[in-house]
Amino acid sequence: MIASDQPLLLVVEDEISLVTMLRYNLENAGFRVAEALDGEEALISVEECKPDLIILDWMLPQVSGIEVCRRLRRQPGTKDIPIIMVTARVEEQDQVRGLDTGADDYITKPFSPIELVARVRAVLRRARPSLSADMLEFADITMDLISHRVKRGDRAIRLGPTEFRLLRHFLERPTRVLSREQLLDGVWGQDVYVESRTVDVHIRRLRQALNAGDLPDRIRTVRSSGYALDDQA
Ligand code: CA
Repeated sequence: MIASDQPLLLVVEDEISLVTMLRYNLENAGFRVAEALDGEEALISVEECKPDLIILDWMLPQVSGIEVCRRLRRQPGTKDIPIIMVTARVEEQDQVRGLDTGADDYITKPFSPIELVARVRAVLRRARPSLSADMLEFADITMDLISHRVKRGDRAIRLGPTEFRLLRHFLERPTRVLSREQLLDGVWGQDVYVESRTVDVHIRRLRQALNAGDLPDRIRTVRSSGYALDDQA
């Protein structure tokens, strides 16, 4: 069940199979999803459903994504709705950026659902801090920043203070590979002298706490680079 106070996302995409896939993944991540199959429909839907964020494909029949974006930005009622623009290739993304449509973020096809969900959360956090500031989530891990409760699925996870800060650092940067030095700076602070193998010790403790039972490992070790929070560890 998705509560009606969850953010509503409007997916604008003419490829039905992609809409279905996005809906499935976004709803699994706790969002409500509305859809529009072309630019005209998108403009009407935005008026009707007042989404919290729009995922907007560039290549659409009739009115292009760029034009939709521009029109929304021109109207007082819609100009502040965050938009993530979807492009088919990196070159297109550069082109679209160059046109300065006013999108908040860009993502290139093909993208993983995890990446999109992370982008959506990041954009929402910037645009509407109240929507997501109290809670960090990735895959089945949730961290309540008010009560300091951490859960994996329904199970409560007990973490020491360092593991809590470490996990928070990862949750704020999902899927990104972080070096031991970056983790030391971010979690322990730049002025503290800690050996880099200390990071490994706390990663091991964090893993033990998170993976108790036979759950898949969410922390990926990237050889000679560092670690990443990932759902395919
Ligand atoms: Ca398209």
